[in-house]
Amino acid sequence: MEFSLIAKHFTRATPGAVLGVGDDCALLAPTPGMQLAVSSDMLLEGRHFSPQDSPAGIGHKSLAVNLSDLAAMGATPRWATLAIALPEENDAWLTAFARGFFRMADQHGIELIGGDTTRGALTLSITVMGEIPPGQALRRDGAQAGDDIWVSGVLGSAAMALAYRQGRLFMEQIDAAKVLPALYLPTPRVALGIALRGLAHSAIDISDGLLADLGHILERSGKGAQLAFDALPTLPVVQTYLHETVARECVLAGGDDYELCFTAPADRREAILAAAASADVSVSRIGQITAEPGLTVLAADGQPLPYDKTGYDHFAA
Ligand code: ADP
Ligand code: MG
Repeated sequence: MEFSLIAKHFTRATPGAVLGVGDDCALLAPTPGMQLAVSSDMLLEGRHFSPQDSPAGIGHKSLAVNLSDLAAMGATPRWATLAIALPEENDAWLTAFARGFFRMADQHGIELIGGDTTRGALTLSITVMGEIPPGQALRRDGAQAGDDIWVSGVLGSAAMALAYRQGRLFMEQIDAAKVLPALYLPTPRVALGIALRGLAHSAIDISDGLLADLGHILERSGKGAQLAFDALPTLPVVQTYLHETVARECVLAGGDDYELCFTAPADRREAILAAAASADVSVSRIGQITAEPGLTVLAADGQPLPYDKTGYDHFAA
């Protein structure tokens, strides 16, 4: 597409690359001895964001959800490519989008080193690359029986904001304002992922809901889990809506949290808390990995909580 568009909006100095935007390929020199972690995520208008959303917010979120995958692996962010389809050359939209995108990139040491630009329904496809010392990646298949299960930050805020936006949950406006940032401006837990290298047995980022994403760890590790509903961390404003079924579902199975869920042996509790403090993020212990398969959520009275939604299914909606 228009080379001027790419030059104006997406060409920046890339001191961490041998060659950045402008040639047939970018040229990268990974740090000797490091492994490369690579992940792609697509965002489609109508599915992952709506036409009236702020373009700077879309720029922020599109890179944040990709960075969240690097965080979940314990990788140090290095490079990204950006493939973008847009219906028309809208300079104001692109300027704001690039502002949100590069602010997030600068925060995490990401350099945009290439991509593709074409006309079409608004679609964003980003690939991120990061580095990890060999053997230190936080994989999904490492959970062991007896491990503590931890989550970072708070759960359910983004899903509650979406439920509010879609009219599925009534909230006072002053309350909604407290959960909406989680939906539009998620924070990838990059520093925490790096700090958990060598500590966590397994990790995943929560993009489709706690139960679904923890379920992936359990499946890949061949284990089960027991969770305590009351141990799940939430914003105080979320607590005040937990009498609503929808709100409880948001906490257990809502998507878009982009928090890390990870497991570690009980004798590393102090080290985990120190790692979280160094990353400036809160972490909460929410349950245990069990040798027997199956996922049980216990209510305050010790009885299993019935639940039917294990997460947001992109093909069911
Ligand atoms: P080609 O025809 O070889 O695919 P393009 O004209 O699509 O080349 O792209 C020219 C250069 O601009 C390439 O280096 C490509 O990586 C880069 N580029 C294209 N679109 C983007 C974008 N949205 N963000 C960053 N770099 C881009
Ligand atoms: Mg091209």
